[in-house]
Amino acid sequence: MPDYKDFNLINMLTSIDGIIINETPLRVGVGRELSFGSPVDIVVYRVKGKPCIPGSSLKGVFRSLAEAIARSKNINVHEPWDDEIAKKEEEQKDFCPICGIFGNTRLASHVKVYDSMPKDGESVKVFYKYGVAIDRNFGSVKLGPFLEEFVEPGVEWTFRIDILNIEVFPEPKLEDLRTTLIKDILNIMRSFGIQVGARKSTGAGLIRLKEARWKVYCLKNGKFETSSEGDLV
Ligand SMILES: [Zn+2]
Repeated sequence: MPDYKDFNLINMLTSIDGIIINETPLRVGVGRELSFGSPVDIVVYRVKGKPCIPGSSLKGVFRSLAEAIARSKNINVHEPWDDEIAKKEEEQKDFCPICGIFGNTRLASHVKVYDSMPKDGESVKVFYKYGVAIDRNFGSVKLGPFLEEFVEPGVEWTFRIDILNIEVFPEPKLEDLRTTLIKDILNIMRSFGIQVGARKSTGAGLIRLKEARWKVYCLKNGKFETSSEGDLV
């Protein structure tokens, strides 16, 4: 029965630093923009004028992916925002591995996913495309056309994720189901890529992990010291 409420004690912190590439057009972060006078209806999310893939969006994709992998391994999966289940997990001190990684309404997250920004000096080109959408409530009602902004494929972005108290590296601690789920996500990101943002059904938003390095830190005499590090292969 894993009680993942271990935030009072930092055993190990794993930091993964890498580069991701969007292999197809990308737009993440904002829904229907309602800024008056804007010549574009739906724009790419930006921070300080630069396109950005919010860490929260990546984390959401990772969670869905982890759920899919868990189902294939016959691990029970539930809705992320189901507070009844979260309460039960807390009372029984028996959190499921998905909540043990990403948290729930009663448990903090063990992973922190940072915003991905274009790599230093990387100039980001965008392009515009007319699109239509089907109204969710009225099935056949077409909305649009509206002008959508996308980041062109091939941009290199920063990637960083911190993992608290889960022993994924150097070797996954196999009795902890969370370690293999995290490993699987990283492997899928590296080999096939994952999709984020808008227009997934048309293939947009495919990002692939180009390279990454992991570092494990352990607390020693009140200071973080590197205990092992390596390339993600
Ligand atoms: Zn759970």
